[in-house]
Amino acid sequence: MSEKRIDLLSLDTNELTGLLTRWNEPVYRVKQMENWLYHELVDDFDAMSNLPLPLRARLQEQTTIGTLKSVAVRDSADGLTHKALFQMSDGQTVETVLMRYLDAPGSPQDTADPPAIARRTVCISTQVGCPVGCPFCETGQAGFVRNLTLGEIVGQVLFFARAQKRAGYATPLTNIVIMGMGEPFMKFNVTWRAIKAFTDPARFGMGARRITVSTSGYTEGIYALIEKGSQVNLAVSLHAPDDALRDRLVPVNRKHPLRELIKACRDYVRATHRRVTFEYALMDGINDSPAQASAVAQLLSGLLCHVNLIPLNPTSESPYQRTPMARVQEFERVLRASNIPTTLRVEKGIEIAAGCGQLRQQVNKQRISELQLAL
Ligand code: SAH
Ligand code: SF4
Repeated sequence: MSEKRIDLLSLDTNELTGLLTRWNEPVYRVKQMENWLYHELVDDFDAMSNLPLPLRARLQEQTTIGTLKSVAVRDSADGLTHKALFQMSDGQTVETVLMRYLDAPGSPQDTADPPAIARRTVCISTQVGCPVGCPFCETGQAGFVRNLTLGEIVGQVLFFARAQKRAGYATPLTNIVIMGMGEPFMKFNVTWRAIKAFTDPARFGMGARRITVSTSGYTEGIYALIEKGSQVNLAVSLHAPDDALRDRLVPVNRKHPLRELIKACRDYVRATHRRVTFEYALMDGINDSPAQASAVAQLLSGLLCHVNLIPLNPTSESPYQRTPMARVQEFERVLRASNIPTTLRVEKGIEIAAGCGQLRQQVNKQRISELQLAL
């Protein structure tokens, strides 16, 4: 009857308190359980040694610690990047990436044993597929299935946090980027509950500035972040300097055109004094001319921001190709000459995260061919 069980990772502190209160447990059990789940990172009720046996048995019977099953893992050749594909209770799959960096100024250093890998960033998904449907994006092309639950979002982080803890890191993860599959602001409330779990000292306890959320341009989500007084980093997927092109590349633009999006970003900067990152994936002959670079500079002029140029990661069905490096550098030069702070691929995270959805597609295709063989 696993489908009737309560996923503990889907409960915030109030809801967990409510559950334990209904079970007539003293309120200090909440702290004990949060400590086991989010600090000790256990995945087994037997390990919760300070909980009475009857409570452990009841938890075992009526609840689960997450619902994700890892069904495929891929490691990069340098051993620093790991992708996991998870299957959820309804059989749907979702992808998560761990990116590790050998050096990152300003990051907390662990001791040399385990190896001193300064930054360990997990890139998480918020939806199965994505309804925005950007034509260059593997996830967008796969179509939309459903939103993830809080427990399914938090479970992705826990999987890699446990692995890094087992590897010996006292601080298992240093950063979280909400840049995997899906549009995180479509269900702002769930994304916000996840951010709260990541920052709450009783849970993951991560500084808000170590968390980045990326949107394709859901302005209502930007205003909701302002209202929350949040200090998380905001990234906006720009990819085009005019509405005609952006309507095609990032179709949510038809609902929230550039004027509205940039105004929301200006309001965000005014309210939070935080810089906005604009992601711009360069596509050969589509959005990469010097004139388009000037148009980006004009659009963003006077805005506290930073542009991150990403050479496109061509997907299996994508009609677009990556811009050659010489033209990427020319684009960067034009932006810099207009005083727009610009980086190229420095955020390896975004580049690799862009591959999010590709493992899922590969595995799905493999399954389909296996099925065809079986028939
Ligand atoms: N849906 C959100 C967050 C997830 S996508 C958003 O679009 O912002 C994370 C980033 O990867 C976005 O900037 C997205 O535009 C970019 N991306 C998607 N597919 C890509 C590809 N094939 N090559 C390069 N960047 C890509
Ligand atoms: Fe969705 Fe982002 Fe992909 Fe666009 S780029 S389809 S918004 S996941």
